[in-house]
Amino acid sequence: MNDKKIKILFIIGNNRSGTTILQNILGQLDGYVSVGELKYIWDRGFLRNKLCGCGVPFRECEFWTTISEHPPSIINKYDPYQLFQLGESFRVQHLPSTVIPYNRKKLFSRLATYMEAVENTYQAIQSVTGSRIIVDSSKNPAYGYLLSHMSSIDLHILHVIRDSRAVAYSWSKKKLFQPGTTNPYYMPQKGPLICALQWNVRNAFIELWFQRSGKNYRQLRYEDFVKAPCQTVESIIDFVGEPATSLPFISDTDVLLEKNHSVFGNLVRFQTGKVSIRHDVAWMSKFSNLSKALVTLLTLPWLFKYGYLTKKNGEKG
Ligand SMILES: [Zn+2]
Repeated sequence: MNDKKIKILFIIGNNRSGTTILQNILGQLDGYVSVGELKYIWDRGFLRNKLCGCGVPFRECEFWTTISEHPPSIINKYDPYQLFQLGESFRVQHLPSTVIPYNRKKLFSRLATYMEAVENTYQAIQSVTGSRIIVDSSKNPAYGYLLSHMSSIDLHILHVIRDSRAVAYSWSKKKLFQPGTTNPYYMPQKGPLICALQWNVRNAFIELWFQRSGKNYRQLRYEDFVKAPCQTVESIIDFVGEPATSLPFISDTDVLLEKNHSVFGNLVRFQTGKVSIRHDVAWMSKFSNLSKALVTLLTLPWLFKYGYLTKKNGEKG
C-alpha cells in the first residue's frame, strides 16, 4: 500500500550546488526530518565518526544512536565497511548498463544487503522521529537510482541545478568539512575541466533517469531559490504533498535555524540561529577568466538549456 511507504524527498544534483541551507530549512518543518547526505552514513558516520550536524561525533549523537539501535538494529546487523564498499561500487558511470534487464538483475542481487540496510535505516529514521517526510541530500544519481528501486520507498526527486561556473569555483576552493583547527578535515578539490564534465554528465543522467521515468520529479535552480526562498520552500511542500504548519522564516530572506542531525554535508549545516540567505556570486569576480571561459565552453548547451545565458533568467536576472 502506498500509504505505508516511506516518503523521501531526495535532493539530487551536483555537489556544491548550495543545497545545504535548503535541506536545513526543510528539516525544520513540522513532520519533516533532514538527515543530510545519508549515503555517507557507513563511512563518515559509523567508520570515521565525523561530526553530526548537532556538533557531536556521530557515534556519540543520541539521535543516531537511537536510530542505529532501533530494531532490526543496523549497527549490530550490518558491517559498515562492507556497506561502504558496496555503496561505492555502484557509480553514475554504471547507470547505462542497467538498461539491460540481465545487468539490472545482477546489480540488485549483488547489492541486496546494501539495499536492505538502506531501507532499514530509513525505516528506523521514520519510526524513531515519527516524521512524514525524510529529506536526504545525498545528491548522488547512482544512489538515487537504487532508492527508486526500493519497494518500501515513495521517492520524490528534487533536482537542484546551479550555474556550472559557480559549482566549479566552489570546487576550486579549499574548504573545511567540519569545524576544528587541531585536526582539520578538508573537502576535496577539483579542477575546472573535470568539474565541467561531471556537471554535464550528472545533469544529463538525472534528466534521463528520473525526469523521463515518470516518477515524482522537479527541477529547482539554486539561483531561483535564493531569489525567493520562502516561496521556493512553499512550492516544495506542495510538490511532496505534505503540508507544514509553520515555516522558519522571519523575513523574506532570513530564517531561524535550529540544531539538526545531518549525517554529512558541508560546513553550512552547523549554522544555527538567524541565517540570511543570499546569492553567492563570488565566482563572478574571483574565478579566473580562463577557468570561467573553459567551464562556459564545455557546459554551453546545458547552460543555455537551464537559462544561464540569458539576462532575464541567468545569474544577473
Ligand atoms: Zn546529532
